Amino acid sequence: MQYCSHCQVRIRGNKKDCPLCGNILPGDNGACGQQEIYPVVPPFYERHLALRIMIFVSVVALVVSFMVYALFPSTINWPVFALFGLISMWLSLIIVIKKRHHITKNIMWQVTILSFLSVVWDWGTGWRGWSLDFVVPILFVSAMFVLYVTAKIMKLRARDYITYFLLDGLLGIIPVIFLLFDWIHVLYPSVISVAISIIFLSAILIFQGENIKAELAKRMHI
Ligand SMILES: [Zn+2]
Repeated sequence: MQYCSHCQVRIRGNKKDCPLCGNILPGDNGACGQQEIYPVVPPFYERHLALRIMIFVSVVALVVSFMVYALFPSTINWPVFALFGLISMWLSLIIVIKKRHHITKNIMWQVTILSFLSVVWDWGTGWRGWSLDFVVPILFVSAMFVLYVTAKIMKLRARDYITYFLLDGLLGIIPVIFLLFDWIHVLYPSVISVAISIIFLSAILIFQGENIKAELAKRMHI
């Protein structure tokens, strides 16, 4: 244990100066290799080599794709697709990491962002309508299954998932707008999404009504 002669206190850990007066402390007298009071925890991204490798691969892929395009120009500006793909992937990944303790919230963010990106991508590449025809309704429906399965597997309590079940049920009804305004060429994914959402919503309202009431009441008070 180190000793500050100025404050006349003993200091735990391995410090260079006294935390009270800032005096330079004499080197550890005797008790060398003393443990720090708190363990040193490296940040999440530093602990995960896989993440660093992915960053590196992304950079290389991007540089190579633009380089090849510059040397051998083509009519399609495909490096931009590579860039969009990488941006989508990283956005998803960042959300997974940031919200890894809130798996249901995480799933909802993924669905929202992927839907948004698919519409932007579809629009940016000359609007062929595949995003609204397929991607958006399929994402909403798959999220319902993923949410349900996750809640079962992770044995989540009703209050941990009920809000997201409701949100996704409501999202799943949105394709009714695509149908009403005639925005789509392929009807069945949207029809299925709306039908399943209504069934899903009615099921949670009927069987989980009490939990929803409790959860809403709690959120309103905050
Ligand atoms: Zn001191």
